[in-house]
Amino acid sequence: MGKTYRIITYGCQMNVHESEKIAGLLEEDGYVPYSENEAADVVVLNTCCIRENAETRVLGNLGILKKEKENHPDMKIVVCGCMTQADGAAEKLKARCPFIHAILGTDNLDKLPQVLAENAKKTRIEISQEHKLKENIPAVRSLGVNAWVNIMYGCNNFCSYCIVPYVRGRERSREKKQIIADVRELVSRGYSQITLLGQNVNSYGNDLGDKNNDFASLLSDLSDIEGKFRLKFMTSHPKDIVSQTVDVIANSDKLSHFIHMPPQSGSDRILKLMNRRYTAGGYLEKVAMIKDKVPDAGLSGDVIVGFPTETEADFADTLKLVSVAEFANLYTFIYSRRSGTPAAEMDGQVSVADKKRRISELIDKQFVISCRLAERCVGKTYEVLGTEYKKGKMIGETKCGKAITYAGSKDAVGKFVSVRVTDNKNSKLYGEII
Ligand code: SF4
Repeated sequence: MGKTYRIITYGCQMNVHESEKIAGLLEEDGYVPYSENEAADVVVLNTCCIRENAETRVLGNLGILKKEKENHPDMKIVVCGCMTQADGAAEKLKARCPFIHAILGTDNLDKLPQVLAENAKKTRIEISQEHKLKENIPAVRSLGVNAWVNIMYGCNNFCSYCIVPYVRGRERSREKKQIIADVRELVSRGYSQITLLGQNVNSYGNDLGDKNNDFASLLSDLSDIEGKFRLKFMTSHPKDIVSQTVDVIANSDKLSHFIHMPPQSGSDRILKLMNRRYTAGGYLEKVAMIKDKVPDAGLSGDVIVGFPTETEADFADTLKLVSVAEFANLYTFIYSRRSGTPAAEMDGQVSVADKKRRISELIDKQFVISCRLAERCVGKTYEVLGTEYKKGKMIGETKCGKAITYAGSKDAVGKFVSVRVTDNKNSKLYGEII
């Protein structure tokens, strides 16, 4: 029996997929997954630093692991992910938690087997600021329906509340032929859904120096891959989504019609302070363009309430935008200071009470919209991909990203079926296979 590993993942889908690569590196090195109730020989914390409370959770978990290590002195604890890349963070972590075996930057994961082979007494730090692309890192993928594929890393946008460009570096796009090879291989292995990942997928290819090698052309080439599968992507920056991309989505039988395009605010003044580089009007024009070309598009978005200096009038503009855009899903966040970002230094921080009141008003508004949109689905038939078997029922997803619960057995996971929606309960859809 090989040595065992455990990975604790925080944050977004990028990190979830990165943890699959960490597992790939460890298994290639002879490690096997740990079984719960036993201490693992290696524990990797794949961290996130988007919000300060994510960092607090990492420190809390390190406290628990310190106690575990006291009972299992050979346990090696490794910290990697976004949190390690912030200015001075690795040194601070080393001073605070000297029991950590190694701290690896987001582009130093390939060093993991090497640092685990060492028995140094002091915490080893490997952080590179060069942010070079590294290919051919093996991944142990989840056994589900979906497989993640990175198409690019980093971000050039510097939204004033966001730490990502500081910790993940500038945009680096992967070569198209490598992405196509990955997707082809995953489809041949039986994955029914492939999700392309990038902080801003719409700027894919900008750094490759070939105008014909953009996101629209990547989607078009991926759609030509043979086989029955669904292709999704996230995330789209509203300023960069262009009509050519939406045309490919409209005309492909593979591409999902679910588009995540976060507005963040409906106030032009706040959008400017956020450095989002579009106006509420410009955003809604993109929404109208998408709905015109893809009438059944399922839009989702993120909204931050209580950004510094946000007034009641600004918030009313956000409510207005949400009403007009008619999101199928909306992810709502209370603004929280992220040190190291320009917004954290801004005057006019909004009180907690105002933030709480606004977010609950926004959630209520979105609930009414979600219920209205869901009601329109009743009686319609959709092609649904079975994604999960839970409590004796199947849950599947339509091409436009709606979840529907229907009767079915476990072997329907990963299969496409036609489902007629029979009911809507508080925006949750129920149906039957026809
Ligand atoms: S687009 Fe803005 S919010 Fe998204 S990762 Fe880049 S800086 Fe952060």
